[in-house]
Amino acid sequence: MKEVIYEGLKFEPYISKQNIANRVAELGKEIVRDCAGKTPLFVCVLNGAFPFASDLFRAVESIDAEITFIRLKSYEGTSSAGVVKELIGLNESIEGRTVIVVEDIVDTGNTIYRLIEDLKKQNPAEIKIATLLFKPEALVKPVTPDYIGFSIPKKFIIGYGLDLNEKARNLNDIYILKEDK
Ligand code: IMP
Ligand code: MG
Repeated sequence: MKEVIYEGLKFEPYISKQNIANRVAELGKEIVRDCAGKTPLFVCVLNGAFPFASDLFRAVESIDAEITFIRLKSYEGTSSAGVVKELIGLNESIEGRTVIVVEDIVDTGNTIYRLIEDLKKQNPAEIKIATLLFKPEALVKPVTPDYIGFSIPKKFIIGYGLDLNEKARNLNDIYILKEDK
């Protein structure tokens, strides 16, 4: 793993593909344990969460589970635009279901907060949040993820689904923006 450059910004290796895989396997085990006898519906928040959701969903193969997709967007460039726009909504009923919202990252929490408030109106049995990454210092909304891959500082990262203006989502490892020194 070496430094990568996007839009003139340098990023250095931060979390390896292997570390991600190990952590996702552990989260899968926690979900299997917590959801025994239930059929959770994974709600993958596109675009960023798709690699994580794909791996996490397959890490729970020993229980019945379903997956669906929703598309939201709140970011432009390397800082939160603050506005959460819903682009593709949920088609299936979640009434009475155990819902696991799968996010790539919870930063300010604005995106997930708004989504959870919307989902609650449909009377699910419970809503859990699984996020690969969590920036506790950036959080401004009362949101507590149930499954967290990695808690990280308030820095900009890319790879494994996370983008800089739609680029870098296909990097297998996660990279962090290099501070100019
Ligand atoms: P929030 O609404 O501020 O919690 O931001 C959530 C969304 O912003 C995530 O789903 C990501 O799409 C994006 N985001 C937040 N932090 C980063 C980052 O460090 N890199 C890339 N995207 C990010
Ligand atoms: Mg996202």
